Amino acid sequence: MALINCSECGKQISDKAEFCPSCGNPIKQTKETTRPNPAYAQPKRETVYIQQEKKSGGGVWGFVGILIAIILIIIIIFSM
Ligand SMILES: [Zn+2]
Repeated sequence: MALINCSECGKQISDKAEFCPSCGNPIKQTKETTRPNPAYAQPKRETVYIQQEKKSGGGVWGFVGILIAIILIIIIIFSM
C-alpha cells in the first residue's frame, strides 16, 4: 500500500482507495485521463437540494439571510 496525492484536493490517500475520502475524486492508477465528472454522486445531490429548496421556499429565506448578513456587516463597519 502506498500513499498518493489526490489530484483534486492534494491530500494523501491510499492508492487502493477507489475514491478520495476527502473530495470524492475517483482514484485511478492507469494512464487514463480524468473524466469530466470527477464526483458523479455530487450533482445528483445538488439537484435534489435545489428542488427541495424551491418546494419549501428555502431559497427565499436564504436570500433574506444573506441580506440581513450584509446589513449587519454594514452596521458593524459604520459603528466602528
Ligand atoms: Zn481529494
